[in-house]
Amino acid sequence: MSAAAAGQAVGREPEKGKPEVGEIDAGARRFAYVTVGVPTSGAVAAVVFAMRYGFSRVDFALLAGMYAVTSLGIEGGFHRFFSHRSFSAKPVMTSLWAIAGSMAAQGPVVFWVAIHRQHHAFTDREGDPHSPRPLGQGRLARLRGLWHGHAGWLFKVRRQNWARLAPDLVRNRLVMRLNQYYVGWVLLGLALPTLLGWLLTGTVRGAVGGLLWGGLARIFLLDHVTWSVNSIGHTLGNRPYRTRDGSRNVPPLVPFSVGGAWHNNHHARPSLAHNRHGFWQFDPTGTVIRVLDKLGLVSDVRYPDRKTVKGKGVA
Ligand SMILES: [Zn+2]
Ligand SMILES: [Zn+2]
Repeated sequence: MSAAAAGQAVGREPEKGKPEVGEIDAGARRFAYVTVGVPTSGAVAAVVFAMRYGFSRVDFALLAGMYAVTSLGIEGGFHRFFSHRSFSAKPVMTSLWAIAGSMAAQGPVVFWVAIHRQHHAFTDREGDPHSPRPLGQGRLARLRGLWHGHAGWLFKVRRQNWARLAPDLVRNRLVMRLNQYYVGWVLLGLALPTLLGWLLTGTVRGAVGGLLWGGLARIFLLDHVTWSVNSIGHTLGNRPYRTRDGSRNVPPLVPFSVGGAWHNNHHARPSLAHNRHGFWQFDPTGTVIRVLDKLGLVSDVRYPDRKTVKGKGVA
């Protein structure tokens, strides 16, 4: 059974009600140090490397190419496909979405989806894993909350019953296998630009540039863009929809988040494959999904209904 079919069988929206409050997961906390620490060190190393050896066109191409693949893997794959089931895909496409998203190194697909569904079920209230609401008392409360919503939450992930949050994925053998090889996909995401850097330049310098820019610095940049949608996207920006949460559209973040930063649009209509609710709103992920639909590579795409979204010229 495809992941999408499994999703339909068990329902698309997360269970509402009271949040599950478990202890802080020590394993997830250790993993967070690696998830945050390694790309940060890599990004610093990439800058030092560029100061010594320059920033070549191949470095830039590998950074841009790997960023494009993995940002679509996160926004199109982990988010719109696996978390919200906004379209269906056969096993090969399901695997490609999972691998592209896993190469972003933001955690295995089941973890990512479970956390995101919790975010939607309890947005900006008790139970939301990464709401940037003010934390504690005093002048720094807002700043502490913003940091928590950005990356601090990764160190405070609570023990959860992942099967309850993502039953459709847990029951899907293909998705569980892809989830199990998460570390392998992350390493593939580092090996690919390294190999390409070497093949394109024939030098060790090209390979190291590929690893640092197309691999580690790329992970660092996309991490902070994704996390900014969680932190800034619930703090600053416009709110065309009066949703019950604090979600906002943040246009300057849109190109980097490949459309994910139309975050108020998304919270208003989370099951849609498109975040473009106005003709002028650029949503690269939505466009890619539409092209894949035209090519017959995905199906059951949930397009916005002209009557249910604001603005004219809805995609
Ligand atoms: Zn949100
Ligand atoms: Zn979502």
